[in-house]
Amino acid sequence: MRLFPLLATLLALGAVAPLPAQTPGPIRAVDPTRFDTTCSPCQDFFRYANGGWDARTAIPPQYSSYGTGREVQDRNEALLRRILQDAAREAPHTADSTTRLVGTLFGSCMDSVRAKREDAAPLEPVLRRIAAIRTRDELAEALGELQHQGVDAGMPIFPYPDLAHSDTLRLNFYQGSYGLPDRDYYLRSDSAFASARKDYQAHVVRMFRLLEEPPSDAQRDAARVWQLETALASAALPAEQATKFPQLHHPMSRSGLDSLAPHLDWTRYFAALGLPGLARLNVMIPSELKGLDSLAGGAPLETWRAYLRWRAASFAAPFLGPRFEPEHLALTRILSGETRLKARWQRCLKATDQQIGEALGQAYVRVAFPPEAKARMLAMVTNLRTALRNRLEHLDWMSDTTRAAALAKLDAMSSKIGYPDRWRDYSRLVVRPGSFLPNVLAAQRFEVDRQNRRVNGLVDRTEWNMTPPTYNAYHNPPNNEIVFPAGMLQPPLFDPTADDAVNYGAIGAVIGHELLHAFDDNGRHFDSHGNLREWWTRSDSAAFEQRANVVVAQYGGYVAVDTIHINGRLTLGENLADIGGLLVAYDAWQLALRGKPAPAPIDGFTPEQRFFLAFANFWREKARAQAERMLAVSDPHSPERWRVNGAVGHLEAFAKAFRCHAGDPMVRPPAERLQLW
Ligand SMILES: [Zn+2]
Repeated sequence: MRLFPLLATLLALGAVAPLPAQTPGPIRAVDPTRFDTTCSPCQDFFRYANGGWDARTAIPPQYSSYGTGREVQDRNEALLRRILQDAAREAPHTADSTTRLVGTLFGSCMDSVRAKREDAAPLEPVLRRIAAIRTRDELAEALGELQHQGVDAGMPIFPYPDLAHSDTLRLNFYQGSYGLPDRDYYLRSDSAFASARKDYQAHVVRMFRLLEEPPSDAQRDAARVWQLETALASAALPAEQATKFPQLHHPMSRSGLDSLAPHLDWTRYFAALGLPGLARLNVMIPSELKGLDSLAGGAPLETWRAYLRWRAASFAAPFLGPRFEPEHLALTRILSGETRLKARWQRCLKATDQQIGEALGQAYVRVAFPPEAKARMLAMVTNLRTALRNRLEHLDWMSDTTRAAALAKLDAMSSKIGYPDRWRDYSRLVVRPGSFLPNVLAAQRFEVDRQNRRVNGLVDRTEWNMTPPTYNAYHNPPNNEIVFPAGMLQPPLFDPTADDAVNYGAIGAVIGHELLHAFDDNGRHFDSHGNLREWWTRSDSAAFEQRANVVVAQYGGYVAVDTIHINGRLTLGENLADIGGLLVAYDAWQLALRGKPAPAPIDGFTPEQRFFLAFANFWREKARAQAERMLAVSDPHSPERWRVNGAVGHLEAFAKAFRCHAGDPMVRPPAERLQLW
């Protein structure tokens, strides 16, 4: 099942296989050849640390952005490619079910000859089902059926812990079942969005043409799609509201749902989804459900059939024949600016990871994340927690009542490192050599059914929401946990052979970031058991908001792209986590140094300088304008440049390390520093 789009939102190899020749070399955490020494670190630290690299680096045509994150992912993918190719070769005769599953799925994706021969044929059963919709009750049933196989139409659904009773898994309705990434793309008047709209509408016409519609039908159906998607987008909440949990808790019974959205036959919908008789659920965004309901009652069925055809075709395009490739690229280009499709193996790798990541991840972690790495990482997490505890114990603005609850929450927080203790059981998933799309639909149905079995039952707190090879990490508020997939625990972020300064400056800051999410403007509303509950005193809440507002104003002053400023409210939680995370990482590093001789400079840089340089390198990235626009309106994270420059100015230790002075752009006046932690 798809992960929460906005909130959110490492096989049987024996010996370690040598990496293929094209694998890029190790990435150093601090590399003076990447610096721009014409710029003082006190003027623009991101440019000082990354400007030399930026000036000589072009973003490869198949990527929307490039930098440390992409370089680490390229290394991960080179390793995963070997694993997948070996598995595909062994699949027909191996006794190992995991290798067979992984190899068969990847192999069916890589069969480009079959994909070309079959063209759109694998999608035909889905299109016939949509064409057969004759009544509004059948529409509800088709919406449920499509969601059951992972084709997102009408309204996204996903299971998530009940926000107020985190032990119970609930089905949630969200927003965003349209082709452009945010309501702003449908509604904003800026020229960049108007031009993305025009390109998108032309793309939808061409997709209908690929499905053999005559030109005039394709034009008419694309106009219908546009009309329906615009109505859905207009009913959606702006991203800054749609990402705040306290505003998303609207639990209701089936009868509550029936009266909120009377035009959809929910009995048929839930039966088709595989959840007959569902008694309770959470409607995260009631306005979106009402918007959908009024369309379900009012929009012509021809409009609905056109929209559903489009949703199915757009979902399937990456898995169909080569005629669809230029259009798959066209959409990617509109949204994020790539000018070339990723190689087939890279697309198939991603699809395999998305569908059965915990099967693929088993071989990955055997090679890429040894037990010693886990132990080292655990020690760092412990130091970070101690550092945050010390700060919470000494905050002068927080009452003892709130402090006691905050400390209890920190103490109760769990951490997951590398990969799950128990791997997901895929034994009931059947994939076959042959067409890829039916395998994808089977994997998606398997996942929806797997989750359905738990809906309105107990949450399995041992589960992971990201696969082991993922380059990312997350804080999961209802589980009160922080989670670090092995895909990110790689050099230069985490390097057991490197000095503490660079490990704490990079992965330490990531650990700190996730820890601080538990206490940001969103996460702070969850208690130690992961329930949405007000445990702050009224005056502590007010003090928190007042202090956090410094950061809203600070980031709101930065330009993200074109003339679009960062949305200081949308990004508040991430910015607070960045600043607080860096503070706590620095403290934790000091704890790690205690009792040891002071480390010597390396390459002429003091340990303190290396700490901050590793931080700036870990965020080293350049992105295409299209991607920057998409992120500016929909992503709760600030652009990388500001994640670095916005955070370092809050730390006295930074100014000291680089001998910056009051008045320098990278030194924030004391009154404008974050006084939360
Ligand atoms: Zn975050």
